Amino acid sequence: MKFCPNCGQPVEIRIPQGDNLPRHVCPACDAIHYHNPKIVVGCVPEHEGRILLCRRAIEPRLGYWTVPAGFMENDETMQQGAARESWEEALARVDIGSPLAIVHVLHAHQVHVMFRARLAGPEYGVGAESLEVALCRPEDIPWKDIAFPSVTYSLERYLEDRAAGRDGLHFTAIDRRLPRPGPGA
Ligand SMILES: [Zn+2]
Repeated sequence: MKFCPNCGQPVEIRIPQGDNLPRHVCPACDAIHYHNPKIVVGCVPEHEGRILLCRRAIEPRLGYWTVPAGFMENDETMQQGAARESWEEALARVDIGSPLAIVHVLHAHQVHVMFRARLAGPEYGVGAESLEVALCRPEDIPWKDIAFPSVTYSLERYLEDRAAGRDGLHFTAIDRRLPRPGPGA
């Protein structure tokens, strides 16, 4: 943020009185503009043992596979958001089930919340943000071509839980800003 959305003046980055983190502060109108994580909602839709995957037609990670997911909108629940994304990306009507995973994507300032889901019927298609949509057998999941680590994590936990006959809720954090382990680590 360079300019104040309230008054259009250039903002400064400083720690407001009584705060402990640098914020975007407008010296003209005194507004403090907080930047907080955004919520991404998605689901792992299943139909007759297969998982619905979409190949992305948009950046980031164009051409890579994902489950339906996207930024939550105002005035919707997480479940409604996950169902909306399934429709937009895969023209699929889904029944959203139990929460599956909460992934803190620290480097992207996002929290990804994934649900289990079932296709309401066998119908699906290719939405505007997808190149290709497929009902994938677990053994055919293209693990090397999954778009985001939160999707890999969710698919892994989904399949583990399904095999074990349980509906777990899994938490993890991903931070790509951390130094990578060296060779042999
Ligand atoms: Zn201002």
